[in-house]
Amino acid sequence: MKKIIVIGGGIAGLSAGIYGLQNGYEVALYEKNATPGGECTGWNRQGYHIDNCIHWLTGCTPTNDLYPIWQNIGALTDDTTLYREPYFYCLQRDGKTLHFWSDLEKARAEFLETAPEDCLEINKLFDHIRLSESVRVPCEKSLADMNMIDYLKFGMTMADMGKVIKEYGNDTIADLAARFQNPLVREMLTQYLHDSYKAITLLSSIGFYTGGGAAIPMGGSVDMIKRIVDRFLSLGGKLYTNMPATGIQIDSWQAKSVSFADGSTTACDFVICAADPAVTFNRLLPAKYMDKKLRKMYETKEGYHVSSAFHISFGILGSEGYGLPCGSSVHPCKPYRVGTRDFDHIGIRLYDYDESLFPADKRVLQCNIPQEQEDYEYWKALHADRPRYLAEKEKIAESVRQRICGLFPALENKLIVLDTYSPYTFTKWCGAYKGAYMSFFEQKGYKSLTAKNSIRGLSNVFLASQWLSTNGGLPMAAVSGRFAVMNLMKKDGKISKSSRA
Ligand SMILES: Cc1cc2nc3c(=O)[nH]c(=O)nc-3n(C[C@H](O)[C@H](O)[C@H](O)COP(=O)(O)OP(=O)(O)OC[C@H]3O[C@@H](n4cnc5c(N)ncnc54)[C@H](O)[C@@H]3O)c2cc1C
Repeated sequence: MKKIIVIGGGIAGLSAGIYGLQNGYEVALYEKNATPGGECTGWNRQGYHIDNCIHWLTGCTPTNDLYPIWQNIGALTDDTTLYREPYFYCLQRDGKTLHFWSDLEKARAEFLETAPEDCLEINKLFDHIRLSESVRVPCEKSLADMNMIDYLKFGMTMADMGKVIKEYGNDTIADLAARFQNPLVREMLTQYLHDSYKAITLLSSIGFYTGGGAAIPMGGSVDMIKRIVDRFLSLGGKLYTNMPATGIQIDSWQAKSVSFADGSTTACDFVICAADPAVTFNRLLPAKYMDKKLRKMYETKEGYHVSSAFHISFGILGSEGYGLPCGSSVHPCKPYRVGTRDFDHIGIRLYDYDESLFPADKRVLQCNIPQEQEDYEYWKALHADRPRYLAEKEKIAESVRQRICGLFPALENKLIVLDTYSPYTFTKWCGAYKGAYMSFFEQKGYKSLTAKNSIRGLSNVFLASQWLSTNGGLPMAAVSGRFAVMNLMKKDGKISKSSRA
């Protein structure tokens, strides 16, 4: 059996490992942390559970192309119960609430009632959200490997997206909001995702809900990773944790072995780098091997944006409702500062939907406060001064707690700070580029890009990561693992160019 070394035990690495094993390879997966899962993880604090990752998993309907991939890697099994949220998010202001309901017609009716003056634009928006439910993640072949015919065929399977692109393709979220007169509608559109992101990103995210594809597997991120690791191990995969890779030894355009922080070196036939590419190309391989599309995304800062968040998790004492809306909600509030910027809204997310993780007296409120690249530099510098870093995190948690209690007075004395983590935490933890845990978001005037899983100039090294495609997320990570193995098998003469793993 030929041996694949997978570096990095996030979703991309685990997916690559599973597809490698299923196609007859021996797989050894090396993860730098004590537990696999990468950014898809959760942890316990003071008897509460913090689910770091899954707000929504797309592809949770059997008709979706992603579904067989989720099943194959064990993310979804026949026993997995799915929770579907009633809405994507809501905005509350002055006693009024506007929702992006998962029931599209219910949302349309609420918007029309709130803003009859915007009737034309509202109907247009919801008609196009319906059309954007057709958006698909390429699961059979990477966009980077498609020829013109593949590309046209794939495009035809989501022909309705063409109409969405025609109407909103040049709009940012800010441009989209400017089409509306009603201030609540404008606020609703601009306060969830960064308003410089493409409007289509917002429409397709809402479409994941209205189309029924977005759901949360009960047991959350930790259980999902456990199922995937179980699948990997049951197929004979070997998992080594606390094993950061430090280099890949190259000779005559081939990787011969991988070295690790404990001083050991392991020989291999193939390597799949599933760490963040910022780690792969800075620490494991010379940067000259980086695919030109990936390089373009890193180098064109104005066109390909990365962002992160400052996170605060609160435990809720007691089991009363306290007037909290379910799921994700956005609220205007008194200004507060996080990193280098000021905010006048607060986004909160209530974790109460999964009795096994969040029993009635152990519910959690999380706030993810958006942070940009300048904030990342701020947190990185502050981290060097540990007491100041900790004090700043504590100060922010208190100012956010006060604002939440201002919005929901019944919560006074009912919130305890469980954890705070900054963008820099994601870098320390997973090697995340600029603390970002989604990939690049293409800006207005810039195309969505997908980089290759193979590496020019190296015949047996491949890449798997959410970062190979713009937008990223769990689906991109999972399919990139599969595509890495397909590319490997082509190089190994195991499959023809058109076959798949
Ligand atoms: C707060 C938050 C919320 C999110 N919400 C969602 C959501 O609702 N839906 C969604 O689809 N996605 C969501 N995501 C994004 C999702 O978590 C990521 O897209 C996905 O987990 C990325 O997987 P990956 O395998 O590409 O990378 P990673 O998870 O970063 O995995 C890379 C792995 O490589 C390891 N590694 C790094 N360096 C080395 C080394 N030298 N040697 C060995 N191992 C190494 C890291 O420790 C890590 O385990 C969220 C992420 C966060 C943080």
